[in-house]
Amino acid sequence: MIPNVLSIAGTDPSGGAGIQADIKAFSALGAYACSAITAVVAQNTRGVRSFVALEPEFVAEQIDAVLEDVRIDAVKIGMIANAAIAEAIADRLRHHQVRNIVLDPVMVAKSGHALLAPEAVDAVRDLLVPLATIVTPNLPEAAVLLDRQHGWSAETMQAALPELLALGSDWVLLKGGHLEGSATSADLLAGPAGSVETFSAPRLHTSNDHGTGCTLSSAIAALLPRYGVAGAVGRAKAYLHAALAGSEALDVGGGHGPVHHF
Ligand code: PLP
Repeated sequence: MIPNVLSIAGTDPSGGAGIQADIKAFSALGAYACSAITAVVAQNTRGVRSFVALEPEFVAEQIDAVLEDVRIDAVKIGMIANAAIAEAIADRLRHHQVRNIVLDPVMVAKSGHALLAPEAVDAVRDLLVPLATIVTPNLPEAAVLLDRQHGWSAETMQAALPELLALGSDWVLLKGGHLEGSATSADLLAGPAGSVETFSAPRLHTSNDHGTGCTLSSAIAALLPRYGVAGAVGRAKAYLHAALAGSEALDVGGGHGPVHHF
């Protein structure tokens, strides 16, 4: 059976990040893509210009429209924009008793533009993280979730895993891509029974890295119903690596180009 996967996220009219990346990744990985939009974003490969967040009631209405009709096997949550939308998403996901939730706690775009209001961090941490099967923070996002200074090293990444799990998700994938001076990008997957698994990939030197976080979390959501969490994370990481390597075939924009979904 082909899994039906729902992305709840913001848009990218240049097609590299957000819902557009999510739909491409779902499709490339053999899932059927549904989407509920939280915010319409004016952006391209060079950066985010501005966005309009939709009314929380209307975000809820989109989620209801999908979940009252379509069997959804996994959900990916990306850009949330503000606390009221976080509350609406949490309320509808609880109401529909959705399983297999992948939460990418999107906060700031590579261009530096905030995609989540700072006062919404508490709502994400308190309402959405506990509903998640897996949360996929990068290092700056993990620091914000834990309310601590950045200063990350391989050791502090390991040490943060129990604190991140204590926020209430079943699993945490702490992404090490922001760690300076490492030839590999190592992500740590921490699970319910104290398990920790490291997923490493050689660091690729490409500027075509727009939407990499969106792509990884969407790939996990697309694969989760078939492969479970650890199986999905390993395959999703391999997918992102291939999509990054394949990005050289694209000629899209003059900034951080998109990855190639295939
Ligand atoms: N735009 C949207 C709607 C996103 O959800 C995200 C990240 O998740 C981004 C942009 C970030 O893009 P970038 O990879 O360039 O930081």
